[in-house]
Amino acid sequence: MKFAIFGDIHANLEALQAVLQDAGDQGCASFVCLGDIVGYAANPSECLEIVRQMNCPAVRGNHDEGAACNSSLDELNPLAQAALLWTRSQLTREQRDWLQDLRLVRQVRDFTVVHATLDSPGAWGYVTNRFDAMASFSYQFTQVCFYGHTHVPRIFEKDDSVRAGRVTDVQFQRGVKYFVNVGSVGQPRDGDWRASYAIYDVQNQTVAIRRVEYDIETAQKKILDAGLPPLLAERLSLGK
Ligand code: ZN
Repeated sequence: MKFAIFGDIHANLEALQAVLQDAGDQGCASFVCLGDIVGYAANPSECLEIVRQMNCPAVRGNHDEGAACNSSLDELNPLAQAALLWTRSQLTREQRDWLQDLRLVRQVRDFTVVHATLDSPGAWGYVTNRFDAMASFSYQFTQVCFYGHTHVPRIFEKDDSVRAGRVTDVQFQRGVKYFVNVGSVGQPRDGDWRASYAIYDVQNQTVAIRRVEYDIETAQKKILDAGLPPLLAERLSLGK
């Protein structure tokens, strides 16, 4: 049994379609979404409907929350603010309610999923180093937890100490916990423009980070045509 675990889609339909195609080709029959389905790119409604119709476990991200409610967006950067105001206008009330009803943390089979951190999942902190990871590990009661939010794939490991490990294939070892960032489908920020997600192979107890090329020109053109900030299109090519 193989899970495709994907998140930070950010309304990038071309990237989402490419990832789902690749996951199917790789034999994944189960899917889990780590949130931030909307925000930044031009197809929030389409991406939301795809994830909703997959009927897979999903958790809420900060952009999902920002799109769902009418609260102030002052805490977000100007690009995110502009995109979320536009996104609110593109979603129906019912779609916004669906986003708001997503839970912050879920357990799926033997693993946990969260968008940002386990120590305070609704505060939207970033896990970028082993000290941040340590805080999450104290609240991690399964061997493996998958998360997103930073848009940078990375695997933290904890036994006697906490280490930032490899970002590709890992074979899970007994007595070691793993906090796995699967990267971002729709707006990678590690310098690689290709969509990122993870495959968890339950039988073999491995996780692999996959990178998938997609039709970036179309995604960029749609962002510009929608009147969203041009920087949101430019950054996709740079992977940041
Ligand atoms: Zn995000």
